[in-house]
Amino acid sequence: MIWYPYQQMKTMPAPYEVLDAEGVYLYTKDQKLIDSVSSWWSVIHGYKHPELTKALTSQANRFAHVMLGGLTHEPVRRLSDKLQSFLPGDLDYCFFSDSGSVAVEVALKMALQYYMNQGQTQRTMILSLEHAYHGDTFKTMEAGDDEDYHFVLRAYGPSRHVIHIPTETAALEQAFLQYHQYLNCMLVEPLLQGAGGMRMYDRSFLKRARELCDQYGVLLIFDEVATGFGRTGNRFVADLVLPDILVLGKALTGGYIGHAVTVANQKVYEGFYSDDPSHALMHGPTFMGNALACAVALKSIQLFEEQDYLSKIRRIEEITRREMAGFADPRVREVRIMGGCVCVEVWDPDTLRGYQQFAYDRGVFSRPFLQYLYAMVPYVISEMELVQVLRTMREWFSR
Ligand SMILES: *Cc1c(COP(=O)(O)O)cnc(C)c1O
Repeated sequence: MIWYPYQQMKTMPAPYEVLDAEGVYLYTKDQKLIDSVSSWWSVIHGYKHPELTKALTSQANRFAHVMLGGLTHEPVRRLSDKLQSFLPGDLDYCFFSDSGSVAVEVALKMALQYYMNQGQTQRTMILSLEHAYHGDTFKTMEAGDDEDYHFVLRAYGPSRHVIHIPTETAALEQAFLQYHQYLNCMLVEPLLQGAGGMRMYDRSFLKRARELCDQYGVLLIFDEVATGFGRTGNRFVADLVLPDILVLGKALTGGYIGHAVTVANQKVYEGFYSDDPSHALMHGPTFMGNALACAVALKSIQLFEEQDYLSKIRRIEEITRREMAGFADPRVREVRIMGGCVCVEVWDPDTLRGYQQFAYDRGVFSRPFLQYLYAMVPYVISEMELVQVLRTMREWFSR
């Protein structure tokens, strides 16, 4: 029996069974569907990409996995070299893991221990954002701020170790004034908060956060599990404002296999580099640096660069703006567009009830949640296919 995610098993509708997938399409027994959510935002090159599949199978023919405890291998070395040159600034030190949640956990552990290694044991607090989502493990739930995902934490009472602020400069400055000596890090989904409702905010907030982190010696962590690899229209938001620790997941492997990486800068790495064994980072997921994941991630990054994906994403944004221009409806609260993400927020979640089947019947797979109807399409989508996705969204409101 499969226990499905985020669902009341007693009442959930039967999921659509996928028999095949290629390009932007999912094939069920009776329908061909454009995947408008890229399998939770990860399948940026589309399904069954010949080069990704080849990278994976040729690595499988050598070996699929060896652990990094006492062993190493070429795919993981090549991927870390690639990330070191591909990522901005001195984000050079790659700690691999098997999922975005774990990679955020690793970042938080790094930030906490970075100060413990210097004897600053009072720095136990995390500054994060309202409506944040950083994963479903316990510390990431605590750093997150979304009752719909994390309400079980109520059992423990309010957290003494996390402060949540809105994306407003005044609140940011106030939080630093009040808590700076207790903070080890500020953790954010930069520019675009995904699971918390596709909320978009301005880069000036991040610039100010960087200044305050520098002023008070607090580490800045960007959770780019969702925003990394172009989703905001930037390669990484870290290209605009440089964090101390960067977390990547989801699109890292082009959606082929779960893998993630926590990338530290020189300063953070040096905080662990010492003659004292107790200053080591005591972490080691079984499947970190999995050879299949590394081989496919390398190929994914190569495609992203060689085929100028940033211009593909610019085109997606232009078409989206054109198609959504003039769209208004009393049931719609706001339409938000950034890079390869569009969100129609409605006032009442009931407005979206039935949308998934409506879209299915029109050849689009969509998965609205709460009051958010959104699309995060694979970057290889054609103009016609994208227009089909967007017109389906608009049509729902013209019934
Ligand atoms: C999806 C997501 C995560 C969690 O990643 P998993 O691979 O599902 O554990 C963390 N942070 C952000 C911003 C995400 O979108």
